[in-house]
Amino acid sequence: MKEMVCIVCPRGCHLKVDEETFEVSGNSCPKGAEYGKNELVSPMRTVTGSVEIINGIHSRLPVRTDRAIPKGLMFDVMKLLHATAVHSPVKRGQIIIENVCGSGANIIASRDM
Ligand code: SF4
Repeated sequence: MKEMVCIVCPRGCHLKVDEETFEVSGNSCPKGAEYGKNELVSPMRTVTGSVEIINGIHSRLPVRTDRAIPKGLMFDVMKLLHATAVHSPVKRGQIIIENVCGSGANIIASRDM
């Protein structure tokens, strides 16, 4: 039995997931059951970080993935963000890196700058 905290909403239900049947208990809604199962089968995360911005009002532009990506790709994505630079102006939601690391998700700007 694997124990974890559901991070889908602020309620933070304590889940127990059977490692053989993927049956979930402790969830207060169906989203928790889905989260608990996915955490064992293929954990996904939304990645947040920053990239260098040239001629911006700050030196770094906050960015994030536009959807969750496999947890195993997080390190490669962070390395790529570290090596990426964009030029100001940038609009919130603008795609900074398309299909990041082949994940199908895009890196988008989290704010105007
Ligand atoms: S199980 Fe449902 S209510 Fe509980 S933390 Fe997850 S999403 Fe929120």
